[in-house]
Amino acid sequence: MANQDDQFKKVISHAKEYGYVFQSSEIYDGLSAVYDYAQNGVELKNNIRNYWWKAMVQMHDNIVGIDSAIFMHPTIWKASGHVDAFNDPLIDNKDSKKRYRADVLIEDYCAKIESKLNKEVAKAEKRFGEAFNKEEFVSTNQRVIGYQTKINETLSRMAKSLENEDLADVKALIEELEIADPVSGSKNWTDVKQFNLMFGTKLGASADSAMDLYLRPETAQGIFVNFLNVQKSSRLKIPFGIAQTGKAFRNEIVARQFIFRMREFEQMEMQFFIKPGTQKEWYEQWKEKRLKWHLSLGLGEENYRFHNHEKLAHYADAASDIEFNFPFGFKELEGIHSRTDFDLSQHEKFTGKKLQYFDPEENKSYTPYVLETSIGLDRMFLAVFSKALEEEQLDNDTTRTVLRLPAVLAPNKAAILPLVKKDGLPEIAQQIVEDLRWDFNVVYDEKDAVGRRYRRQDANGTPFCITVDHDTLDDNTVTIRHRDSMEQERVKIQDLKDIIKKETDMRFWLMKM
Ligand code: ATP
Repeated sequence: MANQDDQFKKVISHAKEYGYVFQSSEIYDGLSAVYDYAQNGVELKNNIRNYWWKAMVQMHDNIVGIDSAIFMHPTIWKASGHVDAFNDPLIDNKDSKKRYRADVLIEDYCAKIESKLNKEVAKAEKRFGEAFNKEEFVSTNQRVIGYQTKINETLSRMAKSLENEDLADVKALIEELEIADPVSGSKNWTDVKQFNLMFGTKLGASADSAMDLYLRPETAQGIFVNFLNVQKSSRLKIPFGIAQTGKAFRNEIVARQFIFRMREFEQMEMQFFIKPGTQKEWYEQWKEKRLKWHLSLGLGEENYRFHNHEKLAHYADAASDIEFNFPFGFKELEGIHSRTDFDLSQHEKFTGKKLQYFDPEENKSYTPYVLETSIGLDRMFLAVFSKALEEEQLDNDTTRTVLRLPAVLAPNKAAILPLVKKDGLPEIAQQIVEDLRWDFNVVYDEKDAVGRRYRRQDANGTPFCITVDHDTLDDNTVTIRHRDSMEQERVKIQDLKDIIKKETDMRFWLMKM
């Protein structure tokens, strides 16, 4: 656990030191769970968004994008269920005065049992070696069965209590499990209460005519309310999708995990409109497709897993998360939800307008079903950034800090370095920068010894360093150094563009899907 904490602290301080993420309003002591993206962070964030947009929108004939406003008519949030049901169960510890999400306390308790269970399996695997049969062990070992039963019983009781709004039982469960405040160790809890996560604001200048609004808590509703506009103006036929990326706002109860849980964050969502009855197959297809998108970035298959929901949101008939192995363990990165016709039907009910599609093949109109994929851009940033950061042990007993960002996402694709600041080398390096910047984000760096400059670019995630030296003056060649292998080759200046393109172009990464 200490290791995980240390690694996470390193991630946060590296993000600040290298210009990726700053605490918002830092000189005023910051604003809790709000962050600013810095000069490198904004490039990485844009690249992740573009990578998603390319895969989800531009590579599909039947998916289009929109950019709807953050302010929306307030009745939308009544129709969507957010006014009545977008709540989290909160609980306070009376001694530490700390506030928690009751469901998260219980889930963390189960995660601890799960890690005990995994230790038991790992121990047995070591003991039995080659002969180890995991399936058999898990289904026969009494201790493992005990752990699993405890997890299952706890989670399903919690799901049931939350579903029935039985908050007293959620508190009883916390007490029976003897869950203590992770900070103070105290078990002195208040009752569990529901807390609505939407931020309110006002539209209009005069106090009496001002309209109460909410900052949108998800981008999805902007898609639903534009469903017919898009369908009619694009003439798309079902199945088709509408995607958008944009800010969403939630007054999160607990927000202590850097950019994992923010109060202002960005979502990348796609709503896929389908024929009722086909939702099961689309659900499976989108689960598979979205996982492939993640895997294409090469962060390691072992870092992803699906978690199917037991407790379904009010709008869903099936839901699964793609969880990622963050520095603090496996947590939700993306949700894939079968939303039925809940949202469109609700908007029909509240507006009295039909939001139906005429299916020429079936020769009838219906309200489409919807399959949603929803990923947090900031969480994706944290996933990529935290996995990329490594303290690498080198052969000569030294270490280097390297940020192994997938080259397609790296803020700068190459740094151009003159070996010395004289003899015309800076001029050639500048010329290379001028030429390459039409195609890639590149930087010029002439400060410090070249070795130090390499290390600086490694820590910054730059996939290539290009060094101009005295031989360049004679033969127009330069040294290109690869961040990950630290290998160097001599290449012609005119070939640089192709070399960089081969490793950074989205085409080659997305083709792995
Ligand atoms: P959680 O259970 O972690 O609160 P959620 O199930 O409420 O998340 P969704 O409503 O499904 O999340 O939102 C879709 C995605 O938006 C999530 O998978 C996550 O990546 C992202 N997201 C949600 N809330 C936040 C937040 N407060 N900060 C950053 N990203 C978020």
